[in-house]
Amino acid sequence: MIKNTSWLLIIPLFIFITACQTSTTQNEAQTPPETPNPNKNINVPVFSADTAYAYTKTQVDFGPRTPGSKAHKQCADWLIATMQRLADTVYVQKASVTNYANKQLPIYNIIGSFNPQAKDRILLCSHWDSRPRADQDTTRKDEPILGADDGGSSTAVALEIARLLKNTPVNIGIDIVLFDAEDDGIEGDENTYCLGTQYWGKNLHVPGYTARYGILLDMVGSADATFLKEQNSMKVAPQVVDMVWNTAAELGYSSMFIADTDFSPSITDDHIFVYNLAHIPTIDIINYVPYRGFGRHWHTHKDNMDIISKNTLSAVGHVVSTVIYRENANAPK
Ligand SMILES: [Zn+2]
Repeated sequence: MIKNTSWLLIIPLFIFITACQTSTTQNEAQTPPETPNPNKNINVPVFSADTAYAYTKTQVDFGPRTPGSKAHKQCADWLIATMQRLADTVYVQKASVTNYANKQLPIYNIIGSFNPQAKDRILLCSHWDSRPRADQDTTRKDEPILGADDGGSSTAVALEIARLLKNTPVNIGIDIVLFDAEDDGIEGDENTYCLGTQYWGKNLHVPGYTARYGILLDMVGSADATFLKEQNSMKVAPQVVDMVWNTAAELGYSSMFIADTDFSPSITDDHIFVYNLAHIPTIDIINYVPYRGFGRHWHTHKDNMDIISKNTLSAVGHVVSTVIYRENANAPK
């Protein structure tokens, strides 16, 4: 994915408040009435960071998953077999796409559907391929990266949620889509990215497929990750962004899921193509650190298992699984 805006200049405002001091004492004695939380008694199965970590490692152990490589095919086979164990119906889109250099890339989009007959659906997606070059590194720039975070972590979180859905079924429809060939693109040319998603958007796995909204995960496993409200997500699905970030705050993750939008980046990622081609308003939960961008390991050989944190996997998995099980509990019966 690529970021396509520069930093906003933030001018600090210093506001001196002097007028409200007298009312403090009289308000102190009053405890505001507690608002009942309608989500309080909803059972959300425990997201296992250990399992998500193991799913990340399994992918990384195949080696770089660049389309056309042996590791790519081996990982595709493993993802398909795993999804077939977990989901009600699995669709595999095996196709060929043309990359920026006019080369044909074999791709596998893997879709696991839960309750395929349900009308009310939510889409959860991730890319599973890894970048064929380390263009942000200082050495071995032409060699593919392992993509533990970039491709591996988000796919692992999606699979762990599939495992929860298998063991604790819901009534609403959930589609977990693992897109291929997101990360083959060249900087500055947005359409050379997200080739698997572009194929899917033009060849939906079910004709006329739609979902109420989508959540894209990308780079959700590094130790120092923060998640900002991404600008394109806020444009197409502001209520979903607010609901996800409010859920994160309620669960105690407000230092990781930053509500302040001063540093919100605008990112071209799979969610753009899901919206433009399939018209499903989709948000992107993606690591973006103010002043540091996607992180120091991004598109370098440092994107290996050393930077993967169970704490981050756990937080993202907890938030997304809570959103899904609350949607299920609050859906009209
Ligand atoms: Zn990438």
